[in-house]
Amino acid sequence: MSSLGKAIFLDRDGTLNVDFGYVGTRKTWQWIDGAKEALKVFVSANYRLVIVSNQSGIARGFFSEDDYKALEESIDAELAAYGAKPLAWYHCPHHPDITGPCPCRKPKPGMLAQALATYPIDPKQSWMIGDRRRDVEAGQALGIATIKLGVGDSLEDRWACANHIPLFPSLYQAAIWITRS
Ligand SMILES: [Mg+2]
Ligand SMILES: [Zn+2]
Repeated sequence: MSSLGKAIFLDRDGTLNVDFGYVGTRKTWQWIDGAKEALKVFVSANYRLVIVSNQSGIARGFFSEDDYKALEESIDAELAAYGAKPLAWYHCPHHPDITGPCPCRKPKPGMLAQALATYPIDPKQSWMIGDRRRDVEAGQALGIATIKLGVGDSLEDRWACANHIPLFPSLYQAAIWITRS
């Protein structure tokens, strides 16, 4: 018997909220339809939620670490009140052209590895879900099953299909599929 739990690793922008580009304030946060409900579906199926987000807007000076944290805390509180509080949030504030290479910016798996080192999560029972190829690659680097979100016509989506990576139009549909399988 394993005491390890299962987790859903989630990209943020383009997965939970509409990716307007460098979303650093609550004013520019807009939930993607069904995303909050999807988080509740996961929690109801005993998955822990771990957000892993590239935030190079911090390295680029578009918003500050404090701005980012204020937004994270606001969303975290909203999700707690909704009954879908994440276990943990990770973000990479770097950009290689500005701050040099780092182990955390996806497709590197540093944020996921940190979560696995910190919490009793079984990677073999867990999933990584995101809207970009680098999200998928970060999961794959640690042997975590991955899902690519997309409508099925971008180059990234074709790459996912060619590699037999499940493709879903929305997080909600992915949540229903994962928790029913
Ligand atoms: Mg994204
Ligand atoms: Zn980083």
